[in-house]
Amino acid sequence: MSRRTESVQDLIARARGGEPRAVARLISQVEDESPSLREVMAGLAPHTGRAQVIGLTGAPGVGKSTSTNALIRAFRARGRTVGVLAVDPSSPFSGGALLGDRVRMGDHALDAGVYIRSMASRGHLGGLAWSTPQAMRVLDAAGYDVVLVETVGVGQSEVEIAGLADTTVVLLAPGMGDGIQAAKAGILEVGDLYVVNKADREGAPRTARELRGMLALADRARDAWTPPILLTTAQAGTGVDEVVEALDAHHAWLHETGELRRRRERRAAAEIEAIAVASLRARWAHLDGHRDLASLAAAVVSGASDPYAAADTLLGTDRG
Ligand code: GDP
Repeated sequence: MSRRTESVQDLIARARGGEPRAVARLISQVEDESPSLREVMAGLAPHTGRAQVIGLTGAPGVGKSTSTNALIRAFRARGRTVGVLAVDPSSPFSGGALLGDRVRMGDHALDAGVYIRSMASRGHLGGLAWSTPQAMRVLDAAGYDVVLVETVGVGQSEVEIAGLADTTVVLLAPGMGDGIQAAKAGILEVGDLYVVNKADREGAPRTARELRGMLALADRARDAWTPPILLTTAQAGTGVDEVVEALDAHHAWLHETGELRRRRERRAAAEIEAIAVASLRARWAHLDGHRDLASLAAAVVSGASDPYAAADTLLGTDRG
């Protein structure tokens, strides 16, 4: 066994033993695309698949981080450990050492059963699609009962998170034109559970009603799970127990119907694809001379080549 192999194995053993610094180092290896990443992932693989993976998404300001904290408290009260990834696709910073995480840890800072980590997608080839699932594997293998991934709902990220989690929670808050926003953002198809937060504010029941009406019309598979719509005041912790119960009910449903395995296999397929595409890209980024993408593009524009022939050249599958 090489020294590096030993140290990766050691790191994994320490992470599995509940040492937060080892968990942090493994996630940093994911973020930095460390040379030992393959070894890390191979070492983690046999320990994955146990965690209940929950995705929480919603527009900025609806109360995601407040809700995450309230959920952590509720899970801890039930004796379950929680690992959180807070993913901000717009942030240029890597999260590991950010003060933000310490602030977010808040009441949980001294609780060994809670781990919170911010992640930014930065300029990764596969972006969010590539690094987030790997970091989730770390938390899963480290033995957290619940892995919660929180993302800002901007553009397509709701759809992305739906692909990442076993159960997707869409968070809303009362406000102008919620229904229309929901339809536009494509959230009507992706939620397993809808939570209208800020129920202490006027308009929350109406938001829930509008959402129910729109969900009834949305193109969702028949005989499938009917997503509940719950109201919370995350700030006060009101309604959070009901959310945990609904999450558990959904997880039980996933198990019973075989949907859990199907979802996880779809997720693995997307991951494999993202990694394969990223390594293809990395390969042709190092190609020489005439195989360079820019010169191939010039050849297509000048009429010396066509896009199909150029793609074959790029992939090294030229038929000429
Ligand atoms: P995020 O951007 O989605 O993570 O939202 P935050 O959790 O940071 O919350 C945004 C703001 O809404 C903060 O000022 C919170 O204190 C506030 N907030 C969160 N939950 C509630 C709630 O249940 N009721 C009210 N009135 N305010 C809330």
